[in-house]
Amino acid sequence: PKKALIIGAGVAGIAAAIRLAIKGYEVEVYETNSYPGGKLNQFEQDGYRFDAGPSLFTMPQYVDELFELAGKKPSDYFRYQKLDPVCKYFYEDGTRLIAYADFNKFGSEVQAQTGEPAHSVKLYFENSSRIYNITNHVFLERSLHRLKTYLRWDTLKSVFRFGKIDAFRSMHRANQSFFKDKRIVQFFDRYATYNGSNPYHAPATLNVIPHLEQHFGAYFPEGGMYSITSGLVKLAESLGAKFHYNCPVTEIVLDGKTVKGIWVNERIIEGDMVVSNMDIWFTYHKLLKAYPSLHPQKILSQERSSSALIFYWGIKQSFKELDLHNIFFSADYEAEFDHIWQQKAICDDPTVYLNISSKYKPNDAPGDCENWFVMINVPANAGQDWDSLIARARESILNKLSRLLGKDISKLIATESILDPRSIESRTSSYQGSLYGTSSNSQFAAFLRHANRSSKIKELYFCGGSVHPGGGIPLCLLSAKIVSGLID
Ligand code: FAD
Repeated sequence: PKKALIIGAGVAGIAAAIRLAIKGYEVEVYETNSYPGGKLNQFEQDGYRFDAGPSLFTMPQYVDELFELAGKKPSDYFRYQKLDPVCKYFYEDGTRLIAYADFNKFGSEVQAQTGEPAHSVKLYFENSSRIYNITNHVFLERSLHRLKTYLRWDTLKSVFRFGKIDAFRSMHRANQSFFKDKRIVQFFDRYATYNGSNPYHAPATLNVIPHLEQHFGAYFPEGGMYSITSGLVKLAESLGAKFHYNCPVTEIVLDGKTVKGIWVNERIIEGDMVVSNMDIWFTYHKLLKAYPSLHPQKILSQERSSSALIFYWGIKQSFKELDLHNIFFSADYEAEFDHIWQQKAICDDPTVYLNISSKYKPNDAPGDCENWFVMINVPANAGQDWDSLIARARESILNKLSRLLGKDISKLIATESILDPRSIESRTSSYQGSLYGTSSNSQFAAFLRHANRSSKIKELYFCGGSVHPGGGIPLCLLSAKIVSGLID
């Protein structure tokens, strides 16, 4: 059989390994770290378990699909449950809003808490669903870089309807046209952060994201988010894929303009094709640094998505008013994004996202305690003085949570760990510590993501959050699907 070499065991690299093994390739995955998963990792500290990166699981069908392709019943390997409510929202003015999965119930909740008519919420979701129907098979499920995609009838139909995808105003402007209440505009603006973008600049096409969460639902994997990684690695291994840990790839070896293999731990491993799951910027700048003329400069200079600052806190108390997902909104959302995107800094009243997996998986924390994953959006790493930014943000976050929950949170912290843009960059080779590859702050972003195959080097493919169709677990899984289709 032909041999496929995969660089990196992030979720997309693992999915590519599964798909290629099913097709009969001999698959070898080389991973720098001593563990798989990349950003989708976990750790334990003083009796608390924390999912290190992603915490929101959407579009589970893309995980199930991998088990089904392998002829297995997904639920025998990987189980998850649907969330309802999905998330609790806390506003500085004292408003509390519960996002129910059922959208009629959510509409009534919006009307009861803010006075914004339930009917507006219905119209909003109809618009969101319309954008999805026009865009999904063009922007998400296929290669944008292949003539074949554009010759398909459903693509052409979509192209004729592009006027309806709202690409020429910002998400924020569009949201203001649907809602008068600032709190609800803020609620829907927040979806820009699902791919690390800025709602005041990102095209309103991204208002498709609420549809993905609302229509397809939000889920919790029974074993925590990390069970996505562990379940998929197990599946890949059962199909014969081999994982080599502590194996940083330092070069992609070419023979002319065709891939010959990879350079790992002082030796060459030969293969018929290479799939890089390493961030595209580092793939070129580290693994192909000998070939600057082959670098796609314009694509590599695209603005990166935002990064994150996370405090993992073991909390010696449980809070009934909190759920698995909780948002504590900033009072001035525009100022918050201005700090992230223009000033490359952190404002003193950031929106705080609090995830508590022990709400669904009690053994993630000791009895009557909770494992808090406390995250704010921050700029990508451009060499800021992170130590002082982090110290200041920690104070702001503690003040905010203590104020809105009526309890001094600093006294409840039993154990602490921190992840910031520098450590995200060094642990997963993500350029500037960005969470989702390039940002989507322009209407051309979708076309300026790197393709899933090199146009200059034969048998070189790319998957993961920094290439088409973009970041986040579902899109990373789709990138692997597109790669597997291209290899056909
Ligand atoms: P990565 O996870 O980036 O992994 C790449 C792997 O390649 C790493 O293991 C790295 O060590 C390895 N590697 C790199 N270079 C080499 C080399 N030269 N040789 C060998 N190995 C190499 N997504 C969601 O869907 N929902 C969320 O709620 C969510 N929240 C997030 C919160 C945080 C804090 C973070 C960091 C991310 C979040 N994301 C979320 C995004 C999601 O985690 C990523 O989009 C996705 O996991 C990226 O997967 P990937 O396949 O691109 O690889």
